[in-house]
Amino acid sequence: MIITAISTFLMQVDAPGLKGWASDGSFGTRAGAKGLTGTRNWLFVKVTTDAGLVGIGECSGWPRVIETAVQDLSTVLIGEDATHIERLWQKMLSAIMGHGMTGTVGAGAMTGIDMALWDLKGNALGTPVWNLLGGQMRDRVRIYAHANTPEVAKALVAEGVTALKCGGVADPVRKVAAIREAIGPDIDLMIDLHGPPWLTPGDAARVARALEPYDLLWIEDPIAPESLDGYRRIRDAAHVPLAAGERMATVWGLRPLIEEGLVDVIQPDTGRAGGITQMKKIAAMAEAHHIMLAPHSGSLGPVAEYAALHLLSALPNGLILERIEHDWPGRARTIVPHPVQQDGFLTVPTDPGLGCDIDEAFVAEHPSEANVSNPGTAASGAYAPGTFDEHVYVQTRLRRARYFSPIKDSV
Ligand SMILES: [Mg+2]
Repeated sequence: MIITAISTFLMQVDAPGLKGWASDGSFGTRAGAKGLTGTRNWLFVKVTTDAGLVGIGECSGWPRVIETAVQDLSTVLIGEDATHIERLWQKMLSAIMGHGMTGTVGAGAMTGIDMALWDLKGNALGTPVWNLLGGQMRDRVRIYAHANTPEVAKALVAEGVTALKCGGVADPVRKVAAIREAIGPDIDLMIDLHGPPWLTPGDAARVARALEPYDLLWIEDPIAPESLDGYRRIRDAAHVPLAAGERMATVWGLRPLIEEGLVDVIQPDTGRAGGITQMKKIAAMAEAHHIMLAPHSGSLGPVAEYAALHLLSALPNGLILERIEHDWPGRARTIVPHPVQQDGFLTVPTDPGLGCDIDEAFVAEHPSEANVSNPGTAASGAYAPGTFDEHVYVQTRLRRARYFSPIKDSV
């Protein structure tokens, strides 16, 4: 089964210059409970072989750049036997090492190809990817949805969703308090303190302590991913589960968070951590430290979501899957078949390979134009009052007497 071609399919919905960015707080507030808006940038990959079989995958991270990386990598893969996934992964890593691209950009390119090779192997053997990973721990996967207001939260719970995540650094304590009060104690709740602006480690430690009474499943990315020292400080300051890892790639990138026990939940991005080949190794490393895995998946396209379903079906420490179903109506048309969500769970596919295919003609109707993030807006409250135009990466919280309410602690 020799690789004869690797094709890319880049698509974009809603250019960021027109619509803002997911992290600016517009999700869940601009258009009501289900009409989430924002940009979506997806890159799909198809590996074709001389056997007539194909496999599909998805890359995230910086898709317009990664498309070029995939095309470059194809030159060392065409003519190779597609069966030997690990050997091809090692060859890809060696091919890009000299560029210093072993982080999420390089790993993002390897991810789509690797995912397609697993799909291809499953298709060739007539068995689902989860079976190649050792079989099922579970035949359905619990999901969590995004909600930034009590109204959205209650609407999602009424649909059967059993876990919710809110986000942003604007007023996190009051936001969590309001949503917890609306949904009661039996729904799992998380918050992603996603920057920029990122909190300083000291402020994040204080927020984490103020959030202790709300029994969160986790606090995600409390600070910028570069600061492992900061994670240690928050870890020591607060008794709350922490989650992180969506901007890191490969076993080497995720290793410090796991080995030092800095998080309770590791969140490698299914589209850029290095593929199924890396995800299963990251999961095993986490398992050794009693850390759960919840793949970052919210902004990803539907092929990566399928890959995450297979992984979470097979992994003992697979916790829950991030899911934004209603960001764009075309999401369901991009892939065949579209996963069916019921009672807060997704059913694990049973068809060979990943069990899905993309609608290439539909993808081609949505060309990509640009893919960088606009800073937060004044309306989103991301930046402290009076500092909106600064757009700094890390910012201490001003108006402190209000920011940490309603819980007052003694940090
Ligand atoms: Mg996040």
